[in-house]
Parts: sequence; C-alpha cells; structure tokens
Amino acid sequence: MSLETELTDAFIEGYQVAGKEVGYWGRRFLQAVKRNGGLATAKRMLLPRNEGQRKGLDALLEANRPELTVEAIVLQPRFQSLFTPAELDAARDRLGEYGKTIAILAAKRQRLYPDELEPGQKYAEGAKKQVRVNAYERNPKARAACLKHHGYDCSVCGFNFESRYGVLGREFIHVHHLKPLALTDGEYKLDAVADLRPVCPNCHAMLHRGAAVLTIDELRTKLSATDA
Ligand SMILES: [Zn+2]
Ligand SMILES: [Zn+2]
Repeated sequence: MSLETELTDAFIEGYQVAGKEVGYWGRRFLQAVKRNGGLATAKRMLLPRNEGQRKGLDALLEANRPELTVEAIVLQPRFQSLFTPAELDAARDRLGEYGKTIAILAAKRQRLYPDELEPGQKYAEGAKKQVRVNAYERNPKARAACLKHHGYDCSVCGFNFESRYGVLGREFIHVHHLKPLALTDGEYKLDAVADLRPVCPNCHAMLHRGAAVLTIDELRTKLSATDA
C-alpha cells in the first residue's frame, strides 16, 4: 500500500470515528477524499483561505478529539514526507495548543527509536496499534521467553552487544514483534518464541522506518545488497 493510499485510509477512518464517537459527520470532506484522494484534499484544506474548513476542526477540538482532525493526521510522523514545511506549519498552527504538544512529542520521539510512542498519550488509531505492539515488545516475560529461545544476537545483522562492548553490553538487545498487522482490536495472544525476535536497535529502527514494517528477511536482503 502506498503512503498516499495509507493517508486516504487514515482520513476515512478519522471521518468514521469522528462521526460515531463525536457525532460530527464531515460528509463533504469524505466526498472530496473519495473524489480527489486524501493528499489532494488535505493540501487544499491546508491553503490559507478555505471556506467552511474550520467547521470540522472546531467541532473536533471542542470535543477534545484533536487527534481525529485532518491537521493531526497530516502531522503523523509517517505522513509528514508528503507535505511541505509550510503545510505542516499551517497544520500545527491550526491545532493551537495540541499542535505545540505534537511538536514537542515529535522532537522527543526523535531521540527515541522511531517505533516508540509514549503510552498513555492520545494517538490516532494506527499509532495506538503501534503502542500495543510496543507493549508486546516490552513485556518482560515475553521478552525473556523470546531471548531464552533465540539468544541475544540480532536476527537481521548478527550483532551481539556483549561481543562488541563486553560486560556492559551483556543481555542488551531490542525485541521486535513480527506481526504488527495481525493485531486487531480483539484479544491477541502472543507467542513469544514464534512472534518475537531479538534485533539490534539499528536494525529495529530500519524495520519500522518505512510505511509498512519490513520482515526480517526483507531487511537482511537490503543489508547484504550493500555488502557487495
Ligand atoms: Zn542488527
Ligand atoms: Zn519492532
């Protein structure tokens, strides 16, 4: 799925949640998204002057659901590359206080790994799924079971922190969840050995870097392509 398609889907999902949970049905917005695609619609909405555009934004801000707005979806890290700095600034400005919070969180996140979001914060649905994935990846019992079986070498590049850093690196490794897309809102049973793999932080960041999470094999192929 292309990033543009993902953006369109995120808008449609936001429209539905806003309708069901806030009672705001932005039907004209939905029509525009379906007719012109999410990206073109968003770019038009981010232009300085646009009649009627604030209606949905104000309704959602008033309902304290800023994460459902077009502006907040545009500002999701995965979509930012689709927009110009001026468009992103416009989105942040319109969100007021929430825009500032997002900017602070984004700056903070840059210092963390790209897949780490902070639990307890409000995020759009895609990001919430990501938080759940992170919760699985951080679950100490699952982690221990995974590492007992798979050991502490990175499953992608083979890096071992203890070999490289000595005692300081002993038992240091990230744990990656192989099937984030299999997560649904229902119960999900984690199989620590089948579903988790040890990966070094570099490979972990690269697994999560693109729009879709790469498989271990896909990333390994990319890695060996650069060795040649
Ligand atoms: Zn690695
Ligand atoms: Zn991961």
